[in-house]
Amino acid sequence: MSAAPLLRTEKLVRAYGSLLAVNGVDFTVREGELRSIIGPNGAGKTTFFKLIAGEVTPTSGRIWFRDQEVTGMPQHGMARLGVAKSYQITSIFPHLTVFENVRVAAQGAGQAYDFWRRADALTEARARAEEVLVTVGLAPKAGLLGTHLSHGEQRHLELAIALAANPVLLLLDEPTAGMSPEETDETMVLISELRAGRTIILVEHKMKLVMKISDRITVLHQGQVLADGTPEEIRANETVQRTYLGAS
Ligand code: ATP
Repeated sequence: MSAAPLLRTEKLVRAYGSLLAVNGVDFTVREGELRSIIGPNGAGKTTFFKLIAGEVTPTSGRIWFRDQEVTGMPQHGMARLGVAKSYQITSIFPHLTVFENVRVAAQGAGQAYDFWRRADALTEARARAEEVLVTVGLAPKAGLLGTHLSHGEQRHLELAIALAANPVLLLLDEPTAGMSPEETDETMVLISELRAGRTIILVEHKMKLVMKISDRITVLHQGQVLADGTPEEIRANETVQRTYLGAS
C-alpha cells in the first residue's frame, strides 16, 4: 500500500498580470517520498515551490498538508507545520559563525512551541545545531564565519539551516547550483541520507542527479504538469523527450 499523501495541490494557479506562472497544477507528494520537479526555464518551478512554502499566495486553487487545508497560509505557518525550504539565494548571516547560524535557526524553530522554557530551549538548540552540522559534514568548520566557507560548503550550511527545524517536508531549490561535479556528488549522497524520516521535494536542473535520486518526477511546462511518473517513465515519455529532455 502506498504511503499517505503529505502535501496536495488542486488546480493551483498563480497569475502575474496576464501571465499564468502556475496554471492549474494538481500535485500529490506522499510521506517519505523524494520528488523532483523539473522543466525548462520559466516553466513555473520556483513559483510552485513558493506557493507550497507559503511565500506566495495562490490566485486560485487549494493546498492541503496532511488533512488540513493550508491554502493562503503564510510561510511561518507552514514552517510551524514542518515545512522548510533551503534557499537558492543565500540565507547565511555573514557575521555569525557556522555554528551560530545553525543554532539561531534551531532556536527560532523551537521557540514556536517552547518559548517559555528558555534555558532548555537554548540547550536543545545547541545540541540540534551540533547534530545537524555533523550530518552535513560541517562540524570541523563550526567556528568559522559563514563567509569563509567555499561555495559548496555554503550551500551545505544553507541545508543545515533548513534542517535545524527538523522539518517533515524539506523543499530544496537547486541544491547543487554552481557546484563542481565532486561537490554535486557529495551533495547527492547527503540528500539521500536526509531522506530518512522525511519527505523531500527537489527543484533541480541536473538530469543525471534527478534520474538517480528521485522516486518520482513531475515535469512542469508553461505552468502546467506535462508528466508525472517514475524516472523510468519520465525518461521513456515521448512528450517529455520532445519538449524538454531532447532540448536539454
Ligand atoms: P527557472 O528554471 O528559470 O528558475 P522556473 O521554472 O523556476 O524557471 P518561475 O521562476 O516560476 O519559473 O517563472 C515562471 C514564469 O513566471 C516566468 O515567465 C517568470 O518570468 C514569471 N514570474 C515569476 N515570478 C514573477 C513575479 N514576481 N512577477 C512577474 N512574473 C513572474
